[in-house]
Amino acid sequence: MAKINILPAQVYNRIAAGEVIERPYSVVKELVENAIDAGATEIEIYVENGGTQLIRVVDNGSGIEREDLQSAFAPHATSKIKKAEDLENVLTLGFRGEAVASIASVSKMTIISRCENAKCYSLTSDGGKLGLITEAAGEKGTDVRVEALFFNAPVRLKFLKSEKGEEAEITNFVSRFILNRADIAFSYYVNGKRVLQSFGGGDEEAFVCVYGAAALRQCFKIDAEKHGIRIRGYIGNQNFSKPNKSYQSLFLNGRYIVNTTLSAAITNAYSSYLMKRQYPFYVLHIDLPGEAVDVNVHPNKADVRFANNQIVYGCVYSVISAILDGHTKALDYLVQEEKPAEEPTQKPVEKPVEKPVEKKKETKKQEEIFPQEEKKFGFATFTYEQALKELEQTSPAFAARKKDGDVPFKEVVKGYFPVSELKKETQEKRGAEKLHEQFPDLFFKKTSFGVEAPKAQETKQEDVFAENKRFLEEIDKKKKQNRIDIRTCRYAGKLFNTYLLYEREDEVFVIDQHAAHERLVYNRLKEKMENRKIVKQPMLVPYTIELNAFESEFIREQYDEIRAMGFDIDEPEEKHFRVSAVPTDLLGLDLYVFFNDILGQVSSFRSIKLEELLKDKLALSACKAAVKGGMDLTRQEIDALFEMMDGDMGMKCPHGRPVVVKLSRVELEKMFKRIV
Ligand code: ADP
Ligand code: MG
Repeated sequence: MAKINILPAQVYNRIAAGEVIERPYSVVKELVENAIDAGATEIEIYVENGGTQLIRVVDNGSGIEREDLQSAFAPHATSKIKKAEDLENVLTLGFRGEAVASIASVSKMTIISRCENAKCYSLTSDGGKLGLITEAAGEKGTDVRVEALFFNAPVRLKFLKSEKGEEAEITNFVSRFILNRADIAFSYYVNGKRVLQSFGGGDEEAFVCVYGAAALRQCFKIDAEKHGIRIRGYIGNQNFSKPNKSYQSLFLNGRYIVNTTLSAAITNAYSSYLMKRQYPFYVLHIDLPGEAVDVNVHPNKADVRFANNQIVYGCVYSVISAILDGHTKALDYLVQEEKPAEEPTQKPVEKPVEKPVEKKKETKKQEEIFPQEEKKFGFATFTYEQALKELEQTSPAFAARKKDGDVPFKEVVKGYFPVSELKKETQEKRGAEKLHEQFPDLFFKKTSFGVEAPKAQETKQEDVFAENKRFLEEIDKKKKQNRIDIRTCRYAGKLFNTYLLYEREDEVFVIDQHAAHERLVYNRLKEKMENRKIVKQPMLVPYTIELNAFESEFIREQYDEIRAMGFDIDEPEEKHFRVSAVPTDLLGLDLYVFFNDILGQVSSFRSIKLEELLKDKLALSACKAAVKGGMDLTRQEIDALFEMMDGDMGMKCPHGRPVVVKLSRVELEKMFKRIV
């Protein structure tokens, strides 16, 4: 790693104040970021007892030189920037030089590190008091152990969540690192068990490691460029939404962020496909020139500030809605067909495939373990084993790399890249200068001093976000205009037993009752399935189906899922299945059509994780079977339907067709040539 500099006061005063280590996950985040900054291609993370007993991050990065070991523990000591101007274009994740010092002050922290062609050294701090540098054993890279976190900060300790809660939070972060840096092989162990593992083999692999292949199939893969902003990654299709926001990951210029402008743009693009309490699923990487965004607003909150909210919002919104609504433009944004997965044609530098991490001997006993039972972590529910299995089945390249039961780590092709080089490369690649000319309004304005417009430290924190808030309020106002107040509507009859008419001021809303009903039933069902709040209804006469061996096996495998969905199903006689109860919502369901529909998909379902897909399929077939067009609804049913729509006149059915069409008085009068 480059020399560690103690920043002069005027530099660190420009850096937003006080990095605080709030919880165990903040430690994990900082340590992993340091490993990434050090150019690591393999990173192992160990967590014990929710992180309070041990957090350990081992990397194969550049290492820290002996004479820099002590400075690493000093506040405002960083090798990543030197002077104030460097702040304008930070390309490393860290730059404040505070994390190690802060963590060390509230724990027992040991850094063992070795640079290329050097000896390995170790230095321990006890609550910030440094010991002596000793020689140690270890390979190139850095091994950071943080034990007894908050041992001298009882108040912090008291405010921690349960062990499981902290663990879940850490798992969230690790998952996001995996998604963010698909080129790095991560292994993540909780209490000695490996729960997540990625292989550094690219976005697709990383995605499958975290969410499974079934989720991948329900997503659009996009890569779009608009107005100097690149948007790439995965977004759930119109029917793939989630009951909470933990399935949303945004990475801006390689950094995990939470930002209201971006998330509002995405959510609003989805709004006509989502019901209350449903949230879009996405893993998106957004890249824009460093000078168009200020990442230095908030040391803790992972938020950023854009020079121009309007443009950023507009780009993201239009790209995503074009895809969801099926505009022709979407073709430019979608990554249609995956390149056939092959071995890279250009062989990387001949190097033996690295054995899975056996760097530090004493960790051996933690490494034998592949978890047997699926562990439910708040967010990543996918186990290492499943990921391996799926990857083998879905990626021939992966299968090819897997030899003799060896976990295939990516050959180490990329060594440590000095920051300055990285900077040069990215700037060239993005053509930052050209973008300045092309889209001047995307950037912060230069002042007469040649400095950028006021940054966070010069404005008050609230001001920085007030601007964002105002912008979002505007958007929200516009959005509300789409949602009408249903009390202002008057029911005006129906046509062909299919279209419901509602009149409001100078407008008529024509609602496709079939589409509306379908959307509503679908959403209700899916929500219930997600919350497992299914009420089932026994059937007077059980329904029996006879299936072939293949189908029978499929149904048996899915027993738990099908039952969780509210079906009572058993197999009184081989390959004869009996359904004796159905979810109340599906009382009128045509079971024959329904099962045929599911079983028709068996071959494509096999070998992948079914849960999500099945749920969706069930809900979709349920709608198809349960709602028929031209159904004579009673007035009460009509009112209930309209109420459920909650004034959302932009709603679309699960297949993306509009539910409502609006006619205006003017349009009608034109038809009658009352006006021209
Ligand atoms: P920052 O990341 O903001 O520079 P930190 O307090 O996190 O500050 O780290 C201080 C310095 O210690 C870093 O600038 C880097 O030089 C060194 N360092 C920390 N962790 C590692 C690591 N895993 N590998 C190499 N160097 C490291
Ligand atoms: Mg750091």
